[in-house]
Amino acid sequence: MTFGKWGRLIPLSLAGGRHLTFKKVFNFFRCEAECFLHVERPKSMPYSAIIEPTNICNLQCPYCPTGAGRDSGRKKTMLDLSLAESFINTLAPYLISANFYNWGEPLLHPQIDALVRMCHERNIFTSLSTNLNIRELDVLERVCKAGLDHMVVSCSGATQEVYETYHRGGNLDKLVAGLKYLRDLKKRSGSRLPVVELHYIFFKHNQHELEAARQIAKDMGVTAFRIMDGSGPEEALVEARDDPKYILSDVKHCHQLWHLTVLNADGGITPCYYLYFKQDNFADLAKDHWRNVRNNESYVLARKLFSPSCAGDLDTNLVHPCLKCEKVHQQKHLKEYLSLNKNAKKSHRTGGP
Ligand code: SF4
Repeated sequence: MTFGKWGRLIPLSLAGGRHLTFKKVFNFFRCEAECFLHVERPKSMPYSAIIEPTNICNLQCPYCPTGAGRDSGRKKTMLDLSLAESFINTLAPYLISANFYNWGEPLLHPQIDALVRMCHERNIFTSLSTNLNIRELDVLERVCKAGLDHMVVSCSGATQEVYETYHRGGNLDKLVAGLKYLRDLKKRSGSRLPVVELHYIFFKHNQHELEAARQIAKDMGVTAFRIMDGSGPEEALVEARDDPKYILSDVKHCHQLWHLTVLNADGGITPCYYLYFKQDNFADLAKDHWRNVRNNESYVLARKLFSPSCAGDLDTNLVHPCLKCEKVHQQKHLKEYLSLNKNAKKSHRTGGP
């Protein structure tokens, strides 16, 4: 059965709801309240984590910094399991979801199922995003058996020619074979999980294949089909659609500094999935325990940027990764400060166009 845009929330809520505990719900509301009040040193913990299994990818999508071969300053690596375990153990009582993706293809990690299991056994909702261009399909069975709740598959065409225009080096037949494998696997096991979503990355060059891709999703028993605006140079993009959820400039406040944390494959901690470069790390988990990171100087300074009452505390020579972020440059109370700080130049957080 294929659900519509909002209908996808039904199977996702069913999958996610079973992981909730009183402690997690309490932490969630506390975290939201502290975010709303711009508390610089929150007592709550993040309720969502991105865990990057690897920063290596098998495709070369041109507008992705990894695909484009942009040097992040990080070594190309697979996430160390013991590092992941210490991170997950600290956050597990509070985490509602763990998301396996960032700047690489997660299914390339040889122990991806162990990472999923580690979270599943600690009662955390697990999600993974993949290009599904994999040779050994049995990895899908392994992650499903490990307890994966949600899988996002990215696609950008319904014919090989259009698909490989963006998913460079990709093979549409492999993607469809993967979807079919998942459909059959779920049928065999009688399980509704993982919820499978196909994300159609929408560009000018692939608009005409949208409906054909939707049909593929339907035929392959995908739970939900979503259209995601591509990012890249203006000439590649379709003009902003009316749906307010796509208008990023309306997002006035950074919630991620409170509710999210990102463990990069090399052990670097960043506050959000936008920060790509090693020099933008807020901490390095190989050298520091996560408990010391939550309210370290980088985090506290970043939160102060969003608090009108703290603007006066900010040094005009401050160097900070968030100073290049669009969200910071949207803050009315920072207008004067940003004009005085010569390090506060707005730029793409992944160094892209
Ligand atoms: S870079 Fe932007 S989105 Fe990321 S944590 Fe900083 S302010 Fe928030």
